[in-house]
Amino acid sequence: MTARHPDLSGKKILITGAGSGIGAATAQRFLDEGALVFALDVNAQALSESWQDLSESRLRPIVCDVTDHDAMVSVYDTIARDHGGIDVVFANAGISIRHSLLDMSPKDWQQVIDVNLHGVFHTVMPAARLMHAAGSGSIIIMGSTNGMNAHRYYADYNVSKAGVIMLARSMALELAPFVRVNAICPGYVLTPMQKAEYTPDMLRAVDEKIPLGRHADPAEVAALVAFLASSEASYLTGTHIPIDGGETA
Ligand code: NAD
Repeated sequence: MTARHPDLSGKKILITGAGSGIGAATAQRFLDEGALVFALDVNAQALSESWQDLSESRLRPIVCDVTDHDAMVSVYDTIARDHGGIDVVFANAGISIRHSLLDMSPKDWQQVIDVNLHGVFHTVMPAARLMHAAGSGSIIIMGSTNGMNAHRYYADYNVSKAGVIMLARSMALELAPFVRVNAICPGYVLTPMQKAEYTPDMLRAVDEKIPLGRHADPAEVAALVAFLASSEASYLTGTHIPIDGGETA
């Protein structure tokens, strides 16, 4: 694929959850744009399977858990020492568990909030400090349409996504004018996460209720991330952008 955003060439980007789905598609997109990609995931096997055939010197896999604040700080310390800083961060890693509210245990709640809310905080805060000191940067946070409208059987997930949308908005206020922070809110994207939770019949039923009549391809979400990271989005900060085939319309 040809590069669409020439200003991303040579930029340093960290992507969490880069071993699968939207994160992997976004890592590929930024490689195509000529960026240096730090592809972070807690699952070493997913990372090596996604990137095994790639003799790509601009791809740096990192095995790390976003819920571990000290480990995330250490990742950024290493990047800053070896590469002089970070230009773009995509806080994408997330999990979801389908369960009814009445069955939800404190452990379930804790697990989802730990990765999807606290994990995003641990991902973006060390980056924000580096970018603030450097005087530039772009942070993109993975929200969801679940953070805009509640979806049944995903109460913990809905809360985590509403939380990160407000984190993006709060950070945008305090980091302006040099660092831009935006959230994106996909609807239904065909990824391993989605396939694990939905039967083929459920996937078809979802497609029928989406105005565009289908799930998103992960590459379509990656294209929005690349746009937000680029100078084309220079006046966008504090937004949360649905990319949902019209679902929330
Ligand atoms: P996925 O399961 O395919 O990929 C998620 C990746 O995150 C996996 O590789 C996993 O190992 C990694 N991860 C999980 N916990 C981690 C941790 N603690 N530390 C580091 N990495 C961790 O899922 P996906 O569908 O690509 O989802 C990516 C993001 O997009 C998630 O935040 C999800 O909530 C969000 N999202 C997905 C959809 C969808 O329909 N698929 C819709 C809206 C939002």
